[in-house]
Amino acid sequence: MSKRKLAAGNWKMNGLAAALSEIDALSQSLQNADREVVLCPPATLVQAMAAKTAGSPIEVGGQDCHAAASGAHTGDISAEMLADAGARYVIVGHSERRADHGETDDEVRAKTEAAWRAGLVAIVCIGETEAQYRAKETLQVIDTQLAGSLPDSVTGANTVIAYEPVWAIGTGLVPEMDEIGEVHGAIRQRLSDRFGADTAAAVRILYGGSVKPGNATEIFAVPDVDGALVGGASLKASDFGPIANALAGH
Ligand code: PEP
Repeated sequence: MSKRKLAAGNWKMNGLAAALSEIDALSQSLQNADREVVLCPPATLVQAMAAKTAGSPIEVGGQDCHAAASGAHTGDISAEMLADAGARYVIVGHSERRADHGETDDEVRAKTEAAWRAGLVAIVCIGETEAQYRAKETLQVIDTQLAGSLPDSVTGANTVIAYEPVWAIGTGLVPEMDEIGEVHGAIRQRLSDRFGADTAAAVRILYGGSVKPGNATEIFAVPDVDGALVGGASLKASDFGPIANALAGH
């Protein structure tokens, strides 16, 4: 069975209740196609967005979760809470969490396990910094992050990988298409080495970093790109709709 391509939007710390009106516009703009569309709003909007998208092709995800199911962790949210609020996905290890909160690969692995425990699909983010890119360390960084951030029981159903060069996030910069292809191919190979060829083929590998309506078609044509994790351009249905629709032909 071929895997379904995925367009996932990360609203980051953006969106008050009024922003939910974008859901109506997005629903209207989505063409019927065999691909998945996920929006990850701030935690305050997960439940309302899940209620609003019920019965639509749009699914909801969280942006982070704690590794524990409950407990004395003020301000944190567990994967179980996200699932209870109607989420089906959760982003873990986003570079902004790794940078702003010092999240390590070990913590990301624990969060991935927490996501699975709650029945969520983990979108595990990896990617090199600009300095690492310039030093040509990308594949080494990817190897280390994959080895450390992924638990042993990865399947195509419980895990999505998002390759997001840190220097491409929110900057308007995008790697050359052959660079994206090289990294995605390397990720697929590492998955195959560790989890076997069938699992590697089933895991979706998203590209993230300044994906826009104007470059989505070109990026989606790159081998081993199974969709996108989109930040800024996911906030407006007029941008995210065309990106999700660009997946339809791939
Ligand atoms: C992101 O933060 O995951 C992201 C890809 O952001 P942007 O699309 O704005 O570069």
